[in-house]
Amino acid sequence: MITGKKVSSLDRVLGQVDSLDTTNLTNLVNKLARERAFLETIFNTAREGILVISDLGVIEYANIASHQMIGLKNSDIGEVSLWRLIPDLRGSLGLEEGARIESSVSSRELELTYPENRYVRLYILPFEGVGGMHSDKSNQFIVILSDITSEKQSSEAMIESERISSILLLAAGVAHELGNPLNSITIHLQLIERQLKKLEESAARSKLESSVEVCRAEVSRLDGIIKNFLEAIRPQTPDFQTVNLNELLQESLQFQASELEDRGIKVEMEADVESPIVRADKQQVKQVFFNITKNAMEAMKPGGLIRVKVQSNEERVYLRFGDSGSGISQDSLSRVFEPYHTTKKGGTGLGLMIVERIMREHGGQVGIDSKEGIGTVVTLEFPKQNRKFRMLG
Ligand code: ADP
Ligand code: MG
Repeated sequence: MITGKKVSSLDRVLGQVDSLDTTNLTNLVNKLARERAFLETIFNTAREGILVISDLGVIEYANIASHQMIGLKNSDIGEVSLWRLIPDLRGSLGLEEGARIESSVSSRELELTYPENRYVRLYILPFEGVGGMHSDKSNQFIVILSDITSEKQSSEAMIESERISSILLLAAGVAHELGNPLNSITIHLQLIERQLKKLEESAARSKLESSVEVCRAEVSRLDGIIKNFLEAIRPQTPDFQTVNLNELLQESLQFQASELEDRGIKVEMEADVESPIVRADKQQVKQVFFNITKNAMEAMKPGGLIRVKVQSNEERVYLRFGDSGSGISQDSLSRVFEPYHTTKKGGTGLGLMIVERIMREHGGQVGIDSKEGIGTVVTLEFPKQNRKFRMLG
């Protein structure tokens, strides 16, 4: 069995398979058949869809739940590729036709229309650590599909639920009130700075200057926490306009230029589309860019690089933010969109939740690919503006 370090009696017998006589071999085959039935039962009881695919996407195993979710037939196993059943997935993962999946962990949200309309979050994990027969570097991947249809429908309702909303309202009031004293502190810090500049240069002056600098940084951190919190709890209806994502991205990177410089982090942009035009709320999408680049910065040491790639096809625009940071573990990946899940000391755990919500309101989604110790790629997927028109017309 797949139990990691412990060697089961079955493993021991398997090790001596060459020396078994017919009776023992028959016993072994029976035992294996039982073991297999046992595992099948477990996999088929799971509510999650579980698939094993090759690095080319061919489905090699599928449990019952996944049959129902993606409309798979028994005869499809070993024949059909996941890319054919979920046509948008390959593009979302950034794979060219015929390309193999890389051994990173990935997370995507998908809207399935066949056999019925539902939303799933899909995780792709490299098939590792099976040992024995598979100890050569295996080219298989495990795909887990979680149905999030009801979660999607109820998350709005949950925020509205009375108990939560009264606490949130109170907290929002407090957060809002904090804005005024913060503003006042900022203004006074500026005054102090100006006065300090008038003083003669001295050790005492530069000490004071660096203290003021610390205060300013802390104030802007507080400001960020409050903004995030207010943004998280107040779902606003987006103010849609025609937006060129390249321009908007430049604008928001400009806004973070000094922080990027302070942290010694470079940004490279690569756009293979002249003008990726979408319908979007500028402020909200800027918030999305901000949260993602912020996370990328926080995951990297000085000397790090953020690579932003803009691609598009007939229907969608993809923005991929790649960093050379710490990466995300398999365990953490399934929790990154949860509110208040953070691995950082001063983290709010709200950043990606906000990103996910805004992307949903834009008819898009957010995906993540990550390799621990190597880096992370966050993919934003926007529907193209003309696609919307086509659907409406
Ligand atoms: P916060 O940044 O306040 O922790 P987020 O919702 O923005 O909250 O992110 C949640 C968690 O996801 C982070 O604490 C971190 O563990 C992980 N994460 C997000 N983006 C990255 C990234 N680019 N590299 C590594 N880890 C990341
Ligand atoms: Mg964050």
